[in-house]
Amino acid sequence: MKAYLDNGATTQVAKEVAQAMQTLLTKKFGNPGSLHSFGEEAKSEMEKARAIIAKKINADTSEIIFTSGGTESNNLAIRGIAYKNKEQGNHIITSAIEHPSVLRTCEALEKEGFKITYLSVDKEGFIDLKKLEEAITPQTILVTIMHANNEIGTIQDIESIGKICKAKNVTFHSDIVQSFTKVSIDTKEMNIDLLSLSAHKIHGPKGIGVLFIRKGVRLKPLFTGGEQENKIRAGTENTSGIVGFGKAVELIKESDLEKMKQLRDNLIKGLEKIPNTIINGPRGDKRLANNVNASFKYVEGESLLYHLDGKGVAVSTGSACSSHSLSPSHVLISIGLKPEVAHGSLRLTLSRYTTKEEIEYTIKTLKEVVEGLRKISPLAR
Ligand SMILES: *Cc1c(COP(=O)(O)O)cnc(C)c1O
Repeated sequence: MKAYLDNGATTQVAKEVAQAMQTLLTKKFGNPGSLHSFGEEAKSEMEKARAIIAKKINADTSEIIFTSGGTESNNLAIRGIAYKNKEQGNHIITSAIEHPSVLRTCEALEKEGFKITYLSVDKEGFIDLKKLEEAITPQTILVTIMHANNEIGTIQDIESIGKICKAKNVTFHSDIVQSFTKVSIDTKEMNIDLLSLSAHKIHGPKGIGVLFIRKGVRLKPLFTGGEQENKIRAGTENTSGIVGFGKAVELIKESDLEKMKQLRDNLIKGLEKIPNTIINGPRGDKRLANNVNASFKYVEGESLLYHLDGKGVAVSTGSACSSHSLSPSHVLISIGLKPEVAHGSLRLTLSRYTTKEEIEYTIKTLKEVVEGLRKISPLAR
């Protein structure tokens, strides 16, 4: 038996997505910038995908810019706004639990003279909206707050954040890589100026992302080169990736979401039966449909991961990006876990392909592994 519960790191490409991409790679292979029929054919497929993605977030197609993924979209949004507006102000507001592609970018800007406010979060991972409002000054040029957290699944109230930013006339960016297609987004109703998306978290290919840029919002491009993507992102478009992304969005069904939530809650219930286990992050509708995060006291997350892997269960400690470092997750520390408890934590993330059997097997295996490790752990005595 195998159980892949690391869909927060990446997902299996859907068969239909791979097929759609194959056509672009081998048949409709033209450069979308070319004026002949090969180019036009590729461009037409690319524009269909753009329209599908635009519709999903209630945006115009002209507001959708293709990038190489969530990381580039976050960099383009944050650096692009910072460099464009540095005469108007130098202050950016973010949260302490952002993805590294936001946090490290903000830290880099700090070294370049920008001032960054890192809003703290409560024990479930929510920012305080009052504190956000108070943090905004006439110098503030950007608020960047993620929608759903990739480690503990907390879904921020971005509608209220959008309202606050609009009232204060501050540009609002959100990293919605984890929540995209799991929580509905309406850029017009939610007063969002910039959004980062990535295909490989929703059964699309790796290396393709989107930055939504509201009409009228100006930013400085990161690359110099050709005039692709409204002159905002130079470089020949990744047409097969784009078409794969469009197809991945097209395949999303509401019923899959309900099934995922059910399995998520079964998994939480199963894990809670293991003694000395803490479920991190909120419950119910304020938690991402496919995310579970738990701390198992007196054991090391890394040992858990390796023993589980030996039994065919793939999970992660924290996020994939930080799992090679030994410092405890910045997210778990931010919600108030002690470092030793944070070290004993696992993230288990589902997809629409996750089965009941995988969840049952994971619960059983995890229980055995935790009990086995605790028997030999000096911490447990
Ligand atoms: C995966 C992820 C990213 C990075 O996206 P890539 O396409 O892998 O660069 C950014 N933000 C969040 C919340 C993510 O989960």
